[in-house]
Amino acid sequence: MNTNDVAFLTDFLKTPKQIAIIPHRNPDGDALGSCLGLYHVLKQLNHTVKVVSPNEFPEFISWLPEADKVLVFEKNFDDCKTFLQGSHLVFTLDFNALHRAGDQMGSYLEKLRKPFVMIDHHQMPDGYAKITVSDTSFGSTCELLYRFLEQLNLQQYINTDAATCIYTGIVTDSGSFKFTKTTGDTHRIVARLIDLGVDNPKVHGLLFNTSSYNQLQLLGRALQQLKVMPNHSAAYTFLTQQDLDEFQYQKGDTEGIVNYGLSIKGINLAAIFIENKEEGMIKISFRSEGDFDVNEFARSYFNGGGHINAAGGKSFDSLNETVLKFETILKETNKQ
Ligand code: 5GP
Ligand code: MN
Repeated sequence: MNTNDVAFLTDFLKTPKQIAIIPHRNPDGDALGSCLGLYHVLKQLNHTVKVVSPNEFPEFISWLPEADKVLVFEKNFDDCKTFLQGSHLVFTLDFNALHRAGDQMGSYLEKLRKPFVMIDHHQMPDGYAKITVSDTSFGSTCELLYRFLEQLNLQQYINTDAATCIYTGIVTDSGSFKFTKTTGDTHRIVARLIDLGVDNPKVHGLLFNTSSYNQLQLLGRALQQLKVMPNHSAAYTFLTQQDLDEFQYQKGDTEGIVNYGLSIKGINLAAIFIENKEEGMIKISFRSEGDFDVNEFARSYFNGGGHINAAGGKSFDSLNETVLKFETILKETNKQ
């Protein structure tokens, strides 16, 4: 942020205001963690604050402090609309294009005449915000949020609840501190968060050790359906709607499955294709290691985007056609 932005926000936050904080649709640990982290800080400054999520969030992050207070736009349209209409400022966290809030909430936000503040770490931000805090060198929005709070001299308001939310986003987006953007600074921030009272083993347990039996069986199905394309250093898998139904799929159950492809020796591109009959589309996740830019790949071929090594997209063709398209692109572009 430049000095004007810092001055504006410092002055704005001096007196009580109504503030909305929004994560992207299908919020993950970083999206909901950053929203609730900021929420806990702003609440202590006596603002009226609410996190407004486009849709429901998965169970594995539902324990975050005050996640039960989050409003859900696609479930409770009227309350959300009233709150947004009455807000003086709207934060959008962990996304940088309004359509990432989904069709319903995205088109509502396009028409909402309120000042926006974007805090995000994805590439190519849109220009909707009055203040854009966008930095792709950060591994998580939560880490960037910590820096943002420091810049506004608000770090003393990071209490244990805020710290727990921020820690959660850093852990989930860094693959438990192993992805390339994990720096010494990341660890120094994490150390401070633990000093603020984050119960780190408990958080890891709540995030990663609460799988259901069915969730593991679904993982097993995806692993059995894994296909390796050794000539292209790629591996992909898929889950049909029938697979999901058979194991009583719950939101969040497929989180992380895509990464298994990368654990095969010599593979630097992994993908998963997940059929969603209700939404009439195939949701795709891509992961890579090294130089292969999956953000570019997802943008060019699968209506998506994200980061260099982690991106997502969607397809409105059938599952078979989508997988075939993926294979064909790899063969035609001779990706190795
Ligand atoms: P995931 O595969 O876990 O859904 O997403 C990986 C990364 O790509 C996340 O940072 C996510 O925000 C981003 N992403 C996922 N799907 C999409 C999409 O359809 N469009 C864009 N622009 N980004 C996406
Ligand atoms: Mn993120």
